[in-house]
Amino acid sequence: MELSRREFLKLSGAGAGGLAAIGLMKPQVGRAGALPQEIPLHKKIGEKTTICPYCGVGCSVIMAVEEGEITNTEGDPDHPINQGTLCPKGSSLYQVTNNEHRLTKVLYRAPGATDWQEKTWDWAIEQVANRIKDTRDRNWVEKNKEAKLVNRTEAVASIGSVFPNDEEAYAITKLQRALGLVYIENEARICVSSAVAADSETFGRGPMSNSWIDLGNSDCVMAIGSNPAETFPNAFKWITRAKAKGGKLIHVDPRFTRTSTQADIYARLRTGTDIAFVGGMIKYVLDDMERNPANYNMEYVREYTNASFIINSDFKGPAELDGLFSGYDASKRSYDKSTWQYQLDAEGKPKMDKSLNDANCVFQLLKKHFSRYDADTVCRITGTPKDIYLQVCQTYAATGAAGKAGAIVLSSGACEHSHGTQNVRSYGILQLLLGNMGVAGGGVNGVAGAVNGLGCSLQGRLNHWLPGTLPPPKDDQQTLAQYVEGGGHAARMTSLLKAFYGDNATAANDYGYSWLPKRGGDYSWVPLFNAIDSEQIKGLICWGMNPAVSGPNSGFTREALEKLKWMVVIDLWETETAAVWKSPGVDPVTNSTEVFLLPAASSVEKDGAVTSSARWMQWRYKGSNPPGEAREDLWIISKLVLKLKDLYASQGGPNAEALTKLSWNYGDPPDVHRVAKEVNGYDLTTGKLLPGLTALKADGSTSSGNWIFCGSYTEEGNMAARRDLSDTTGIGLFPNWAWAWPLNRRIWYNRASVDLDGKPWDSKRPVIRWDAIAEKWVGDVADGGWPPVNASGKYPFIMKPYGLAHLFGMGRADGPLPEHYEPWESPVKNLMSSVEFNPVCDMWETGERSTPDRYPILATTFRLTEHLGTGAVTRNLPWLAELQPEMFMEISEELAREKGITDGARVIIESARGEIRAVAVVTKRLQPFNVNGYKVHQIGLPWNWGYTGAFEGDSTNLLTPRVADPNSKIPEFRAFLCNVREA
Ligand code: SF4
Repeated sequence: MELSRREFLKLSGAGAGGLAAIGLMKPQVGRAGALPQEIPLHKKIGEKTTICPYCGVGCSVIMAVEEGEITNTEGDPDHPINQGTLCPKGSSLYQVTNNEHRLTKVLYRAPGATDWQEKTWDWAIEQVANRIKDTRDRNWVEKNKEAKLVNRTEAVASIGSVFPNDEEAYAITKLQRALGLVYIENEARICVSSAVAADSETFGRGPMSNSWIDLGNSDCVMAIGSNPAETFPNAFKWITRAKAKGGKLIHVDPRFTRTSTQADIYARLRTGTDIAFVGGMIKYVLDDMERNPANYNMEYVREYTNASFIINSDFKGPAELDGLFSGYDASKRSYDKSTWQYQLDAEGKPKMDKSLNDANCVFQLLKKHFSRYDADTVCRITGTPKDIYLQVCQTYAATGAAGKAGAIVLSSGACEHSHGTQNVRSYGILQLLLGNMGVAGGGVNGVAGAVNGLGCSLQGRLNHWLPGTLPPPKDDQQTLAQYVEGGGHAARMTSLLKAFYGDNATAANDYGYSWLPKRGGDYSWVPLFNAIDSEQIKGLICWGMNPAVSGPNSGFTREALEKLKWMVVIDLWETETAAVWKSPGVDPVTNSTEVFLLPAASSVEKDGAVTSSARWMQWRYKGSNPPGEAREDLWIISKLVLKLKDLYASQGGPNAEALTKLSWNYGDPPDVHRVAKEVNGYDLTTGKLLPGLTALKADGSTSSGNWIFCGSYTEEGNMAARRDLSDTTGIGLFPNWAWAWPLNRRIWYNRASVDLDGKPWDSKRPVIRWDAIAEKWVGDVADGGWPPVNASGKYPFIMKPYGLAHLFGMGRADGPLPEHYEPWESPVKNLMSSVEFNPVCDMWETGERSTPDRYPILATTFRLTEHLGTGAVTRNLPWLAELQPEMFMEISEELAREKGITDGARVIIESARGEIRAVAVVTKRLQPFNVNGYKVHQIGLPWNWGYTGAFEGDSTNLLTPRVADPNSKIPEFRAFLCNVREA
């Protein structure tokens, strides 16, 4: 029998003592909570584990470490998700650390200079601290126009990223808020923020509800707005496992991809028409419920959603108001939501009709609204062949029976639209009608493109979130009490302030609440770049992010960046953003931006936790030192904070106490474990780490830097580092592997997986069940610890009012139900109403809008297996760059013929914003759509190239518009008009 080295070592486990004696031992990456340590494989080679830094799957990677260098990376066979496999990105991880393109020195570009100068860290830290202090202090807003204390600066912005560890992200947030910054954004805004806005409205929380492994429990997975086989390859294996057990895969996408090749049904839809597509599925289910009620779990719909709640009788929907909901104000392009509310009884409680027959109950309004989405109309809009569409409806509706489960997998393809939030809302409504939330093999699973997109966002790297998604105080919330009155959580906020300010946060000074900046405007992505363009923002700190390539209308973004007085870029590479002063067409001599380019450590060069899309917080270990003078983000932040604290202590400045009183006890160099413990929090009366979030108090006796991570690092140790594969759940929850927030709960809303007495709907795949004798839940950590509904009256969607999920949602800007609108730029008229595009979407484009007469071709964008984001990392890695070296355009054979374009030809793609060059890939993967008898051609463009790095190419975002979803503020990257010609 031939054995690989690893198989040999596994089989030799029983003889570990003997192997140890001769210097050969399998690394301790197995059981019983042992943390993996470097154990010599022979006298030179050791192994350590890390978590792949790329997509949100969070695969574990073993690094071979030889004399301090990482010489190879391979999949970790013990890891329950990837089970030893890696996709091309994970496999080439070692090339990040052994790479000639890495930054190894601190670089400085003086105003007007034509090249970088090498500098020392001491010099850079001092200069950067001075720039920040000077700009902040000169542009300080102590009070707003109403004389309210707001303590903020709108002249310094911070963007990025999704690459730091959770602990680094927390430390960056702490610094940003202490500085009074309000313009704070990261990739999550422009990737999957619509899923968060939608799922919070529908279920109460934003991220993925189930887990990767749980996809293997599904009877039917519908991937829509996502191409998991290529973008989340190791998650896709769980879909194929479901298929091997008889489950189905439906793929809904404008392009035929590798996911489509494995699908039982592939349904083409024109980009931007998800609401029509899923709206028709909802109609199919609602109609079928009348015909075949036994095929659906009506008790779930009646008891666990707001289906029975009666809405204000003045409410009107698009069927009556030609595409609008009641309350629309055309002059403001916004809605008054007063008619979208529940009718209340004499006691102020919502009126209900559990028979679901009242004409104004949510269930009937749903039927009325979606009655317009018949299959013929849907297919005329989406361009989907009707026979295929009906197969999709029938197949997915079959998951509505109690004991069946269907999962939806989505990603940025669903989110990056001017109606992205309502796209995902439609998925949520469908899942609720089918009883697919909370059950094994179900869920709405929105997937982030980077492993710590979720973790970094949860640590407050977005303008509208403090750590733990706490809302930052607004201008009119002048005291902590007013913040709490406005809906803020007293214990969580007080504990956060205690973490930020330690002993300096006291009841007498309102726990330092006044030091926090107050929010008085829209600080999201496009307004941030508008503020740079108008020169309101003078300094930008850019942490591992590359907006010169990733922002919509990159031409505008680049011109805005050129107006900055100073910019600090912390990165592994000289990115397009760092080099914007020498971008194509720019004469460096005329550009006066000072740039500080600080070399950072990569993921394999530091310790810390990352939090995957499935909410697993996993610890990764340092494999080698960073090259040259590159340093960990935590080291850089720490140096900067200590310098700023010195400057404010010696020189003073507005709201100086926000910095001088800031608690910063991590050591020098900083110890990441100390930060992790602060994030978890302490009982300040005993000095012990808190066991979990229920221990938080509002009286200042507890601290916690992030309440949802409370329980992640306790007196029992670092929970994120656990590697115990024991699992008695039978559905692959692996509760002792790593840690899932909050409270180590693996499947959200799991009390919806049982009936009102706590009995699982699905006896084959129970997530939890109520043990009436022991009077406790068995299985996963119950979502809300109360007894079953019949005993406690507590319903399963605990983050929503009354514990019920929202089929009808009152909180979004563009309507309580999803309504089909065309993308902002579309080749066709809206067939549902005379309202062409989302009537309340954000529009900042000041230039021409691409119209079908000049730009008749619809374009969509997509991700590649081999590249991540702007390609800043992956274009510098030899294996990946060799696999995908060049910017290309996918074009159908028919359109290529019409345009006289041959496979491999150089082409120019043009929109109203600009033009790019690419290589034509003429393919059957794209086909023209028949949209109401009109032929719509669509092309597909990856967006991973720019003008720096080992492999250069044009950036697709030179073409995309600055138009955004009104809820999430995500730009519409996925649908715009263009034209194509041979170069
Ligand atoms: Fe796993 Fe994603 Fe990394 Fe590929 S990119 S190895 S699927 S985490």
